[in-house]
Amino acid sequence: MNYKISQRAASLAPSLTLAIDSKAKAMKAAGEDVVGFGAGEPDFDTPQHIKDAAAKALAGGFTKYTPSSGIPELREAIAEKFKRENGLIYKPSQIIVSCGGKHSCYNVILATCEAGDEVIIPAPYWLSYPEMVKLAGAKPVILTTTDKTEFKVTPEQLRAAITPNTRLFVLNSPSNPTGSVYTPEEVKALGDICVEKGVLIMSDEIYEHLLYDGAKVKSVASFSQAHYDHTIIVHGLAKAYSMTGWRLGFLAAPEPIAKAIDAVQSHSTSNPTSFAQKGGVAALTGSQEHLPLWLAEYDKRRRYAHAKLNTMPGITCVNAKGAFYLFPNISKTGLKSAEFCARLLEQEKVAAVPGIAFGADDYIRLSYATSLANIEKGLERMDKFCKALVK
Ligand SMILES: *Cc1c(COP(=O)(O)O)cnc(C)c1O
Repeated sequence: MNYKISQRAASLAPSLTLAIDSKAKAMKAAGEDVVGFGAGEPDFDTPQHIKDAAAKALAGGFTKYTPSSGIPELREAIAEKFKRENGLIYKPSQIIVSCGGKHSCYNVILATCEAGDEVIIPAPYWLSYPEMVKLAGAKPVILTTTDKTEFKVTPEQLRAAITPNTRLFVLNSPSNPTGSVYTPEEVKALGDICVEKGVLIMSDEIYEHLLYDGAKVKSVASFSQAHYDHTIIVHGLAKAYSMTGWRLGFLAAPEPIAKAIDAVQSHSTSNPTSFAQKGGVAALTGSQEHLPLWLAEYDKRRRYAHAKLNTMPGITCVNAKGAFYLFPNISKTGLKSAEFCARLLEQEKVAAVPGIAFGADDYIRLSYATSLANIEKGLERMDKFCKALVK
């Protein structure tokens, strides 16, 4: 059969992350001792009170359709979160609960972008952004950054990239894959330009709570009414509450955009899973005591990994101030990222994600959402690998 694949689907880049991941899994299944740094999710369990709330809802028959944009109780809890933690006032009607933060991003792009529109995305980027932009028929415009600026775009860079067709600027701080965090002043400077030029900002704040070394974040929406009016915040429960499999994300937007996204969602997925939403309410309104414990653990691993990486021949690594990734520079080893990762897996049984997947071929991504013992073992092996490469 000669199946016709739509141009839309055929234009998507194949996932390099998945290719390495499936090879690592196959090696593991064959009994090999693989150390994985590929994880894009916390290694902790979802806190018990959140699971209990969902289990109770399920047992009690909360199993039917809910309003497409989420149950009022959850949208209110999210509005309350923005008020309490960010000083931002949103009405529940400005909040849309979706099937994961990724789904929230996709909804934003679908509801605001179309053919002829440009979307500015700083690289290294979360690998789904450019593909989502392409799915909407719009054009990703990539702004390259390096470790010299801690992977942050400068206001000059952003200004130079804006054209009359620019519709959206994607800001992700703390960042996946680099762990870099923009200071409030830096965020404001970028926001000022978007306000001046009439460009919307999609601010992906999913790692908001995962910060180290006293780093502070401030949402771009919070600097003025004009900043608020130009911003759509994308967020979710996956990272701070270890709820990746629950598929719960949310966004906060100016009313007309929220309305448009509501329409998109109501004709595609409809509501996120009913009883998962009850778990979401428990996450946002219940105890937050797990978070400092997790952060202390992540921080220990981050410090160890950062120091160790900088002792390896051919490797330099700026420290991350957020999320749970490090993004070491491998350019002095003489290998490009895909070959580096393929050989590292083959020779030393260590799985990492090639930077080219994030638009940055001189780097690899290591997730420290895995035990310190694993990190020690994996980095010893990587050290051996680099010593053999760089004589
Ligand atoms: C994990 C992640 C998300 C959202 O993930 P979901 O599992 O869909 O909630 C969004 N943006 C970035 C940058 C992420 O790393």
